[in-house]
Amino acid sequence: TPFAALGLCEALLQAVTDEGYESPTPIQQQAIPEALKGRDVLATAQTGSGKTVAYVLPILQQLEDAFLRSPPPGLLGRGPHARHSERRKTHALVLVPTRELAQQVTETVQALSNPLMTPLRWGCLHGGVSINPQMLGLRAGADIVVATPGRLLDLIERNALRLDDVKTLVLDEADRLLDGGFADELERVLALLPLRKQTLMFSATFPAAAKDLAERLLHRPARIDV
Ligand code: AMP
Repeated sequence: TPFAALGLCEALLQAVTDEGYESPTPIQQQAIPEALKGRDVLATAQTGSGKTVAYVLPILQQLEDAFLRSPPPGLLGRGPHARHSERRKTHALVLVPTRELAQQVTETVQALSNPLMTPLRWGCLHGGVSINPQMLGLRAGADIVVATPGRLLDLIERNALRLDDVKTLVLDEADRLLDGGFADELERVLALLPLRKQTLMFSATFPAAAKDLAERLLHRPARIDV
């Protein structure tokens, strides 16, 4: 199956070509059409499977579609480089277990969003660095937030962002998000999200805690094993 058969818009087909991706990996072939339909996805996925691109492309397409359907008033007629005057609502939240993964995912978002019409804003939020630049970065809002749960909670407590308008939630490396002391933070984040949303869950392994989480969180998911 080529990328062109997955239901992606022209701009994103351009983006994958620009990245040098010739054909979709198995997880991309299976997850992208389901995610574009709005279905929940439960995928067994290892690092290196191409899982990041599998969830970033559908998120970007949702944002592009929403933009083309109803461009924000502040943006109309002002050229492609105009900026929104209003604060962005966070449409997609990607939860990851580590700073390194947060940075990698953000790089993928940046790389693939280039050919889009919509001028996207995103945030990369993780511990191990000072919180102030992250707070400043969120002042105009972020369409996509990539975050580790602990730092995300800190920023929410400081009113730097809200999760009320999230439409798509991704749990990347869910088994690691549930590891050690992190399960608690993850639960606190989940409690702040709207009940009605699309959830895409990726995990290398499915210990009891991950199965339990999938059962509570996902609604009739497409199951993908690659
Ligand atoms: P991931 O599994 O998301 O960690 O991705 C592993 C690597 O595969 C990343 O370096 C991606 O840039 C690369 N990649 C993702 N999708 C494709 C594709 N369709 N063709 C070639 N490389 C890809």
